[in-house]
Amino acid sequence: MSLEVSDLTIRFGTRTVVDAVSFSVPDGARVGIIGESGSGKSLTALAIMGLLPASAHVSGSIRWNDRELLTLSDHALAQVRGREIGMVFQEPQTALNPIRTVGRQIAESVRIHHRMPRSQARTRALEEARRVRLSNPETIVTRYPHQLSGGQRQRVAIAMALAAHPQLLIADEPTTALDVTIQAEVLQLLLSLVDSEGMSLLFITHDLAVLSQVATHAIVLEHGRVAEAGSVEQLLHDPQSPITQGLLRDAVATLWKPSDSTGAEGAGL
Ligand code: ADP
Ligand code: MG
Repeated sequence: MSLEVSDLTIRFGTRTVVDAVSFSVPDGARVGIIGESGSGKSLTALAIMGLLPASAHVSGSIRWNDRELLTLSDHALAQVRGREIGMVFQEPQTALNPIRTVGRQIAESVRIHHRMPRSQARTRALEEARRVRLSNPETIVTRYPHQLSGGQRQRVAIAMALAAHPQLLIADEPTTALDVTIQAEVLQLLLSLVDSEGMSLLFITHDLAVLSQVATHAIVLEHGRVAEAGSVEQLLHDPQSPITQGLLRDAVATLWKPSDSTGAEGAGL
């Protein structure tokens, strides 16, 4: 049950936006992709899910449980997507239909992957809503996405991604769009679900502090290339590349900001 990405290259016209990227997510592992905005993180995730725009030219290899995803038929890929590999996006709206109640959408996710009568799926949807610790789940499932807060919407999107009990969860900056106070809650929720389900995790972030909480190993992307790869411990304590050193400075600066916005800048970090 492992993911093996080798020499993944993505081009738009003559522009190479992901350049010979290789990494693997062994069974049960928690791996991160970290990099600044525009470094190719989301495209790498979308390539795994088979969701790249048609204008993208892809080469290399993405092996999942001994199948090559890049050459899999649309039909076969649709089976893998959602059922074996789930994804949570930065903007929960991406996964949600604005004109359907969230209960119905969670129920649909349940039914796509496990055929069952609608009534049974509705019961399961309520269970899934409880699993992501939505408060008042009985009420929440009757609501439309716009009637929920950002944090509630991301919990719903997580419930939908996990409804099929995938073996690998890809989370693309799942807390970046949320209020700071909600971010930690949603992160804890994701981690406890990954733990209890025994899923592997591929976590995408621009924030080394967040990465250190969720992953044991990571690749650092810079302009579509792997600038550095290793244990998160090593990235934190002995960063080799200038880009990782910069990400570390950013993370330290964010940690210091809330308690002291005037004095921390001069600390020489
Ligand atoms: P990240 O998630 O790291 O912020 P992305 O993977 O979304 O970055 O994008 C990497 C680069 O590819 C960016 O420079 C972006 O502008 C470019 N890109 C993304 N999508 C498209 C597209 N559909 N057409 C052309 N360029 C794109
Ligand atoms: Mg992105």
